[in-house]
Amino acid sequence: MTTLPSHDSALSKDHSFLHCPVCQTAYLPDLFTILSITDGGALYFVQCQQCQHSMQGTVVFSEDGTSLVGMLTDFLEDDIINFRDLTPLSSDDVLSFYELWQQ
Ligand SMILES: [Zn+2]
Repeated sequence: MTTLPSHDSALSKDHSFLHCPVCQTAYLPDLFTILSITDGGALYFVQCQQCQHSMQGTVVFSEDGTSLVGMLTDFLEDDIINFRDLTPLSSDDVLSFYELWQQ
């Protein structure tokens, strides 16, 4: 099992680069929610306190430091948790939907 630094302390050390890509407002560190821990990192969610746009992504802890990769989303925190646990669609699922749609 990977031992991670405290994500609270990692996010609060230097958050000067953590700005909303829509309105450029600096995120408040307390707004970050860690949804799950992965190997060497964590899945996070943050909603801008100014414009309410949301980001989800991954924070990676390494010997070189902490880095974040994220993307804008219309999902809310609960949506991400619910969709994360769904199984992927199979080609049979798509064909079944197509056949149903043709009726
Ligand atoms: Zn914003």
